[in-house]
Amino acid sequence: MKRAFTLMAIFAVTTVDRTTSSASGPEPRSQPITAVLREPLPPERLQLSSESHEIVIQGPSFRYALDKASGIIVALQVEREGHPVLRLVEPARLVIGPYSLDTKHARGSTAITSQSDARIVLKTEGTLKSSLPGDLDLPFTVVSNFFNDGVVVAEWTLRPAKDLALRELRHEVVASGPFRHYLHKTRDRDGFDAPWGSLPKPGGRVGFSTRTSCLQVFGPRAGLALFTDRGATHASGGGETALVAVKSLGDDLATVSLAQYLVRDAESGPGLVLKANTPFTFRAGVSVVPNRLPHPRQRDLRMFTWVGDEKHPYPSDKEIHDAAQLGFTLFQMHRLGTPGEPRPPAGELNRVIDTVHRAGMLFLWTANADLMYACAPRVREMQAQGKWRLWQGFNYGGRYTAPMDRYCDLLATCLASPNGLADYRIQCDANMMDRYQVDGMYIDDNLAYANCTLAKEHHHPEQRYDCLIELHEMNWRRRQLLRARCPHTVLVDHCTTAMVLPVICDFDAHLYGEGYSFSAAETYWAQFGWIRSMHAQGFIWPGDDEPQRCATQIAYNYDLLTGGGQYTYLD
Ligand SMILES: [Zn+2]
Repeated sequence: MKRAFTLMAIFAVTTVDRTTSSASGPEPRSQPITAVLREPLPPERLQLSSESHEIVIQGPSFRYALDKASGIIVALQVEREGHPVLRLVEPARLVIGPYSLDTKHARGSTAITSQSDARIVLKTEGTLKSSLPGDLDLPFTVVSNFFNDGVVVAEWTLRPAKDLALRELRHEVVASGPFRHYLHKTRDRDGFDAPWGSLPKPGGRVGFSTRTSCLQVFGPRAGLALFTDRGATHASGGGETALVAVKSLGDDLATVSLAQYLVRDAESGPGLVLKANTPFTFRAGVSVVPNRLPHPRQRDLRMFTWVGDEKHPYPSDKEIHDAAQLGFTLFQMHRLGTPGEPRPPAGELNRVIDTVHRAGMLFLWTANADLMYACAPRVREMQAQGKWRLWQGFNYGGRYTAPMDRYCDLLATCLASPNGLADYRIQCDANMMDRYQVDGMYIDDNLAYANCTLAKEHHHPEQRYDCLIELHEMNWRRRQLLRARCPHTVLVDHCTTAMVLPVICDFDAHLYGEGYSFSAAETYWAQFGWIRSMHAQGFIWPGDDEPQRCATQIAYNYDLLTGGGQYTYLD
């Protein structure tokens, strides 16, 4: 009986396969990896449709619906391999004291401000009715930015007609999906040590009373994050300002509520007083994965990092061929200079890129999320004009140098400086793509840093601010530019242990840690393995001889235990 069933099954599969083949063209043929690496990325387009009460925005794997009267997201569905995997159980909620952003209490209208394949901006203006009799209506505006990477950033402005004491300002969603863990990042830390763990049992909750920046739930198949720029801007001591509550939890499906508080005070507390006729602004966002479609090369991304030094600024052809023969497919040059402005002797770069391509690999140029070469033309100009404070950052005490390489002299910048810095970074990347056959970039130290002390000069929303929203937008802008110039582009980040969704979702591969040890395979899967949810590849790097670093053999073992192809190495 069993044998007959097996034969039947084989017959059925064969028939289906033949039918499919004849309907869709010739038999599939295997491709060499050099060709697969260069297959264009799947489309990452947004489409908009306007319905009677909602605007629907469809991305490559997600669909948002925004209510025209309130500007709130009323529906969200995410698909994986063509099947729904994550959804909002009810409309998102924004509670502003006695005012609530919902279809019952909001009277507004929405206009399309701008629309492209990569970003759609909607503006909703209206008034909110209070649940308390006698309160004046509250005028509001929200500008909602939908990005093609699954991120939405909503910029809210409230304009009370008379002083308004708020004791609660809360953004909350209830969603179901294959979530297993949570993570919470604050706006006064970079996320390296963000607390995370397994979801509690149904009915259980995990609360935080810190300055909430990003609260997320995730698993190997999907993830969801809420984030804000002004978390706990007014909070009475000890009150929870971020909360994950588990409503149900099955083998493969959890229903959770995620809430972030910008304001939380006791009933008897003074609250945060919004001044009459003075705008009060804040941003609140959502990020989901999978946020794109898978690329067949995903597991074949294997990165070799070439650093060099002052005496050897460029690799020899032999070094490049050796890396290719070891099976690496991405050749990253780590200290090459400002994108588009290679270090001397610059004439060497075309030879290097040519050899990398002839060896079948792709070429990646390294830039830091925040550091910039001291010799970059615009950096020099800002310093000469006495304007450096407008861009100044504070990592590595403001300056990073490498003793064996004097060219490696970089200055820290603030990720969220609005003073033309992001445009300059993009201009450098555009120069790089104009001048060289670069296939992608490696972005070092991709963390939402929280150490800027120039909040006023940089117009930060809070004194302690992690620049998360600006860092996301920079990463998103870079991805759009590189995709347009190189359809098969590869973006890799070094996120260390800060697995914060809106920060890392624009990359195809992630280097976690820099040779830091993993405690157990289970923890590895829980903390890092979920990058599969965004169809990304992981990289594991052996460390040096510091005790907390990971030996080469351990890195190899982890790679073999957890998927393969992640082992990365440097010269
Ligand atoms: Zn700053």
